[in-house]
Amino acid sequence: MKNQLFKYVCILVLVYGCSETKNQGNPEEHATEQYTGPIIDMHIHAFEKGSPFFGMTHPPTLRGETFKGVASFTEQKEKTLEKFKEHNIVKAMVADGELWYDNERSDLIIIGGKNKPIDALRAQYNEGKLGVIGEMAPFYGKILANDPSQMPYFELAQELEIPVGFHVFPGGPNYGIHVLPEMLGGMRTYNAGPLQLEDVLVKYPHLRLYIMHGGWPYLEDVKALMYAHPNLYVDVAVINWILPQEEFHTYLKVLITAGFGDRIMFGSDQMVWPQVISIGIESVNNADFLTLDQKEDIFYNNAARFLKLSEKEIKKHKSE
Ligand SMILES: [Zn+2]
Repeated sequence: MKNQLFKYVCILVLVYGCSETKNQGNPEEHATEQYTGPIIDMHIHAFEKGSPFFGMTHPPTLRGETFKGVASFTEQKEKTLEKFKEHNIVKAMVADGELWYDNERSDLIIIGGKNKPIDALRAQYNEGKLGVIGEMAPFYGKILANDPSQMPYFELAQELEIPVGFHVFPGGPNYGIHVLPEMLGGMRTYNAGPLQLEDVLVKYPHLRLYIMHGGWPYLEDVKALMYAHPNLYVDVAVINWILPQEEFHTYLKVLITAGFGDRIMFGSDQMVWPQVISIGIESVNNADFLTLDQKEDIFYNNAARFLKLSEKEIKKHKSE
């Protein structure tokens, strides 16, 4: 009987001991903690009817995946909005989003404007149809961020108090220079690094600027810039579906470890392949070094702060 009692006590201690360990949160358990709350996607594109992007098959990514492009303007819009619903994406920065504008959805889409004369962007803002200047990508034309021709855009953004989304590397798919020479043959990696933004960040200290694609692969430069400039954020679009997942995680982990987890925002850079939204979300959710709180920061909180969403809107998103 004594032996029997001893056995029961041992079992109790074991069970209690195990549940204690569980409550303390084993880091490996984060791998299974999937974030399911509201998401802000800081990087989406709308294309005009007849755009050459429609129907384009994405060449094999470094993960070895290819994606067949949606065929038309309507399909692009509808399939993207379906993904928003599926993943609880409550807000998205859509470059050329005025193409999808509709009064009922004005709270869903933040319109990004670019490649237009300054007066046209200002007029667009006055109509309530410009929330971000982006995606700025002078890189494709071999022009750097600190080129005098780009200054009026930063100046306008600072004056209107709207953010700028700036594209650096990577441009297009891997090997884009060679596989799509007519579209991407002019770009060069030597003018794609993020340090070109430093003069801009100094000249316009109140500018809210985010580097698109996380500034990959210039990790040291991104850390240096984020250390030096508190208004600088990054999105993780493209690198969360084009790179092998381990490479994306290695990159993300360094930025987190360095202390920049409050300035990393989710983005997909969905163009004509809506499924990349799901892959991008999964890649962040799969990062076993992230706590659920850190995932929430990346998927929602950091962008909400960067975009200066109202308390009311945040509350609404979080209760939906
Ligand atoms: Zn983009």
